[in-house]
Amino acid sequence: MTAVLWHYTCDHGATGIVRDGMVKPNLHPLLGVPVAWFTDLDRAHRLELGLTSDTLKCDRMAHRFEVADPESLLWWPKAARLLRLSQAVRAELETGRLPAHWWVSFEPVAVLADVRSGESR
Ligand SMILES: [Zn+2]
Repeated sequence: MTAVLWHYTCDHGATGIVRDGMVKPNLHPLLGVPVAWFTDLDRAHRLELGLTSDTLKCDRMAHRFEVADPESLLWWPKAARLLRLSQAVRAELETGRLPAHWWVSFEPVAVLADVRSGESR
C-alpha cells in the first residue's frame, strides 16, 4: 500500500546519485546518525518538506528520484520513535511541516533514473 516515494536534491546532490544509482545517507546534525530522506509529496510542498534553499544557487528540488523499493523505507514517525528523539528535536524538525509524509533510510537506497534528465538506467 506504500505509494511512490521520492528523494529530492539539488544539482550537487544529484551527481553522486546518478553515478551510483543510490541515495546515500548523510550524517544529520540533529539526529546524530546518517539518514537519507524521502517523501510522497510532490514539488508543490517545498515548504512542508523543509526543502527551502539554504543558498540562492541551490534548488533543493531541482532533481527527483523515485525509490526502486518503497517497502524498504522506514516511515518517519516510526523512525523518530526508534531514535528516541526528544520532543524538542522533533519540534525543530517537524513544526510547520508534514512529517507524516516523510520516510527515511539508514542504509543506501536504490533509485530509478532522474526524472528531469530523462535518462534510462
Ligand atoms: Zn547544491
